[in-house]
Amino acid sequence: MEKATIAIDTKLPRQDAYGAIAVPVYHTAAYEFETAKDMADAFCGRVLAPDYSRVMNPTVMHLEETVKALTGATNVFAFCSGMAAISNALLAVVEQGKNIVTSSHLFGNTVALTTKTLARLGVETKQINLLDLDAVRNAIDENTACLYLEIVTNPQLEVADLSALAEIAHERNIPLIADTTVIPFTQFSAKALGVDIEVVSSTKYISGGATSLGGLVIDYGTFPVVNQRIRFELLFNVGSYMSPHAAYMQSLGLETLDARYRVQSANALALARKLQSVPEIKRVNYIGLEDNPFYALARKQFGETSGAMLTIDLADKQACFHFIDHLQLIRRATNLFDNKTLAIHPYSTIFGPFSRSQKQAMDVFDTTIRLSVGLEDVDDIFADIVQAVEGLP
Ligand SMILES: *Cc1c(COP(=O)(O)O)cnc(C)c1O
Repeated sequence: MEKATIAIDTKLPRQDAYGAIAVPVYHTAAYEFETAKDMADAFCGRVLAPDYSRVMNPTVMHLEETVKALTGATNVFAFCSGMAAISNALLAVVEQGKNIVTSSHLFGNTVALTTKTLARLGVETKQINLLDLDAVRNAIDENTACLYLEIVTNPQLEVADLSALAEIAHERNIPLIADTTVIPFTQFSAKALGVDIEVVSSTKYISGGATSLGGLVIDYGTFPVVNQRIRFELLFNVGSYMSPHAAYMQSLGLETLDARYRVQSANALALARKLQSVPEIKRVNYIGLEDNPFYALARKQFGETSGAMLTIDLADKQACFHFIDHLQLIRRATNLFDNKTLAIHPYSTIFGPFSRSQKQAMDVFDTTIRLSVGLEDVDDIFADIVQAVEGLP
């Protein structure tokens, strides 16, 4: 079956008593049992039955099962945010004295999680240029717990060579953990490219209409410790499982993901092409443009489409603020892959807490605007941008 079908037709874990066609929302903290033995079996994991919604809930399980069917994963865990998924995945592999090999081109909170929070627990983070495979090889040592990366970095739009990096990680027997938020798993197989664990902010493409926060850990079973620690330790002790209501909204989002993604990525490509001829726009960065340095690698890994995130560079920071302030249709908002087109100046917002030199090291520039292209008519999006840059140098 094709993914568009699987996203819609994956069955509920147990048939609903009333045959509800939408996934029922089991808004309950606890579950009643018939006998003491049933209760003991559920609590000790001998049967798969929910006992408490901090660790298992039928509505969340439906989302997890659908993602499992779509990705071919061994285990899928849904969390209350993308950051919860990332922190649980990393907590499953690190220990005091271990290190994480990654890049400085990472989502801002992931940078802070590794270099502040995990650093405080005695876990070191090595920020390497992941395009330099020798540097990656040299950075991995006997204490390295994982190689961690984002498949298309935000906002630099750098694309990692997943197969090459997976090979390096596997030579050293460490997992490759990839944040695949920006290209959905309905479009490409991270597993086929050698990724061991995928982490996704399902707040983005999956929720679709900015309805809810969520995160997924998609585990391909190659490092069994990840499943053991998340399932039997972190779900219980950290307590950041997804809520049933969020899972309901994200299941609805997942049903329409393939259709939305096709329109959004087509819009993004059409828009990127049009923006290249606007004189006030100094640079258009989109991995779907033929002259982009990552075009060929992105095609090879992710297929014919390139997602809905692109950046434009204007003359200076003042021009960026003027642009944002003059938008009439495009929303001034963070978030990605909403149905609505969104614009943000990452330098002064998402990366606001970082110093100027840190931002320079991360290649985050004050001339850059990030756009997340939505489902509106592309000519309307283009017209809004053209009127907002009018009068700029
Ligand atoms: C948004 C985002 C996150 C964090 O996800 P939340 O759901 O906001 O916690 C992590 N990685 C990437 C690439 C993101 O875009």
